Amino acid sequence: APRKLAAGNWKMNGTLAALDQIDQLVADQPAPGCDILICPPATLIQPMAARAQGRIAIGGQDCHASASGAHTGDIAAAQLRDAGASHVILGHSERRTDHGETDAEVQAKAVAAHAAGLIAVICLGETEAQRDAGQTLDVIASQLAGSVPEGASAANTVIAYEPVWAIGTGRTPTNDQIAEVHALIRDRLAARFADGADMALLYGGSVKPGNAAEIFAIAHVNGALVGGASLKAADFGPIVAAL
Ligand code: 13P
Repeated sequence: APRKLAAGNWKMNGTLAALDQIDQLVADQPAPGCDILICPPATLIQPMAARAQGRIAIGGQDCHASASGAHTGDIAAAQLRDAGASHVILGHSERRTDHGETDAEVQAKAVAAHAAGLIAVICLGETEAQRDAGQTLDVIASQLAGSVPEGASAANTVIAYEPVWAIGTGRTPTNDQIAEVHALIRDRLAARFADGADMALLYGGSVKPGNAAEIFAIAHVNGALVGGASLKAADFGPIVAAL
């Protein structure tokens, strides 16, 4: 069965002072029933890993597809690993929008992440216009096929379904809509990868303490990728506890 994962994406939020939230999260969740991952800004990966002492996993929010070289401002997967990261988020819709990342680029980054020994958290999601046009399942299937590399396995890859219109909006799909997309992702992964049935599938987009338990009860939802509600231990703790 897939491992359960409560993942927080801090996006471009947090300075050293925010590391206190890690202490509180660990204190509040002494025996969590799932893996816990926080993906802070790159500046906080090393100090957060030092503070967490292995009690929670730390991840980057992006990496470059190349191992090193003349790429000002970018970070290689091996550098994330060196700083203490075990995971990296790839293909988040904000990267796809802000930086024009394509499925092929996301796939190349995932190959680099795997080569460096990182677990890739690969994000997929339809826009509101695509959902309204009835294209959701086609968009997700196409992103999945294009973004996930051949070398993916349950040990090195997590898939996050994040509808773009649900991110930071307080709006979420219906349970049936989440179930429909997660079932499609599960079917495609199981058809393509030997252990595709065991890859963890996360839902992301306006997950809060108040809706987490309901979302975690949906078939093939193995955890969440949480943005705003991951910044404070008082919000993220109850989400972890619900999983
Ligand atoms: P919110 O939880 O703030 O909606 O963000 C979701 C997200 O984009 C996580 O990667």
